[in-house]
Amino acid sequence: MTNEQILENAKYRYEKDNDAFAEQTVERRAFVFSAHPEIKTAFDAAESASSALLRACADGSSGGTIEALRVKYNLALSEQRSRLIEAGFAPDLLDFKPRCSLCRDTGYVNTAVCSCFEGYIQEERRRSISSLLVTGNESFDNFSLSFYPNEYSDHMATILEVARHFANDFEGASKNLYFFGAPGLGKTFLSACIARVVANKGFSVVYDGFISIMTVAEGYKFGRFGSLADYREQYEQYFDCDLLIIDDLGSEMSNSFTASVLYEIINGRLLSGKKTIISSNIDPDGLDERYGAKIHSRIWGEFVVMGFVGEDIRAQKKNM
Ligand SMILES: [Zn+2]
Repeated sequence: MTNEQILENAKYRYEKDNDAFAEQTVERRAFVFSAHPEIKTAFDAAESASSALLRACADGSSGGTIEALRVKYNLALSEQRSRLIEAGFAPDLLDFKPRCSLCRDTGYVNTAVCSCFEGYIQEERRRSISSLLVTGNESFDNFSLSFYPNEYSDHMATILEVARHFANDFEGASKNLYFFGAPGLGKTFLSACIARVVANKGFSVVYDGFISIMTVAEGYKFGRFGSLADYREQYEQYFDCDLLIIDDLGSEMSNSFTASVLYEIINGRLLSGKKTIISSNIDPDGLDERYGAKIHSRIWGEFVVMGFVGEDIRAQKKNM
């Protein structure tokens, strides 16, 4: 999901909640009016005085006319407030009040995103990650070392600790992560645990299989499969997001194009100081042969390289 889609979804839910909140005022008014017709009369008078005043301002009426209408409006408003107090209500009971006094429900304070709207954006980010994750229960607490043979459990505990530290101190992480090993050893699961924690902190996370990254790259660079613009934004996300997780590197048909795209992404992200996690079935020593010396040296130099060992966890679970 692109940042734009995330923002759009967040905006949709934000406005829906604002509307629901405003609807409460409408319902409150109806309730008060049904029991107190005198309040309705005063309310209608104030509303029509307000419209007359606004119309006069918009029409460019003379200052005297506007002033007279303003006085009339203020009188009608205080009449409305007096009727409410007499009936035992708060004087501003019928006023529309924003949910957020900082941004008055616009979502922005000047050009900055207001904290009330930021919450919606973060929630959307969490949702967009969750939809990509495998089972939805990926969390460090659910990562069980009991699936690994005894002789490997210390080694795997260290990997778990490094991953946990990377996620918890994402802002301070100086290296990237390269997970390698046979399928079914928990690489994707552990990447997903990290994705969840980092996204919960409000960072943008993109999680994609390398084959799907290559499809986007081909779409963007060669205009295949549809419009170029659709792919441009998606492709740029691989560079712009705070954390990119490339899953399943090595499962694609490799050629010089896959190598050049991989290098472009890894190198671009290193240059801008953005973090990347790669999970792969390729032993890092085999990277040279498959993707070339430049990628090989980037991975060894800038990534914490960790090998997953043990027996296929999916198969173990199936036999339980
Ligand atoms: Zn706000």
